Amino acid sequence: MKVSVIASGSQGNCVLLKSGRHSIMLDFGISVRKFKIRLAELGDELNGLDAIFISHEHRDHVSGLEYLSRKVNTPVFATEGTWEGMAWLELENRVKVRAGDKVKIGGFEVQPFRVPHDAREPVGYLIEAEDRKIGICTDLGSVNHLVRERLKGSDLVILESNHDPQLLIAGKYPWPLKQRILGRDGHLSNQDCAGLLAEISHPGLCAAVLAHVSLDNNTPELAFEASRGKLPEPAGLYVTHQRKAGPAIEL
Ligand SMILES: [Zn+2]
Ligand SMILES: [Zn+2]
Repeated sequence: MKVSVIASGSQGNCVLLKSGRHSIMLDFGISVRKFKIRLAELGDELNGLDAIFISHEHRDHVSGLEYLSRKVNTPVFATEGTWEGMAWLELENRVKVRAGDKVKIGGFEVQPFRVPHDAREPVGYLIEAEDRKIGICTDLGSVNHLVRERLKGSDLVILESNHDPQLLIAGKYPWPLKQRILGRDGHLSNQDCAGLLAEISHPGLCAAVLAHVSLDNNTPELAFEASRGKLPEPAGLYVTHQRKAGPAIEL
């Protein structure tokens, strides 16, 4: 299986998972053009798409969806609340999914779980294929028991490491926005992410990707430093960049 981060952060999010001839996508908050460029950057191409799963309705996760769905006839899965939040979208292939449901498609088994974030019904996803388990949650303001339990036992996790609290507080954002980001339904700090990684770390964890890294309130180095040493040797620790694709990880 191959897991590729096509884009991550406030300027757009998209993760592509490939297993054999099948692929699924998680979120599509970029243009089709950017998606193609990013995929080419990774030396990859897309031959068919079985499904798209949406985490929540914020624009950075869904902005390219309407245009994409006009080009490909792919079912789009989201929770009821997320569909309500995307009422503006004209989509034909809407599929409602509930937290805890298991969706089997193209050799993947996909299970959404609730996360604390300021959207209508936001979810993270557990994805299983080829006897591997991947946990993805990139917009959440705090870690709770459910999130921790769901991510345990993953071979690969993609987690939010959004901001350094000191940079955020000293930065240029207006206070209401700072408070929103720091709140329980906002975004995870580097330290929150590192704490979560330490809690879910186990010998089978082979890689972690630190994602949704803020351009204004964080640096890749600070994110990496906070989580370094939280994984078992020789697991890989990667940081996403807003301006380029990657990493692409083979499992
Ligand atoms: Zn986001
Ligand atoms: Zn969000």
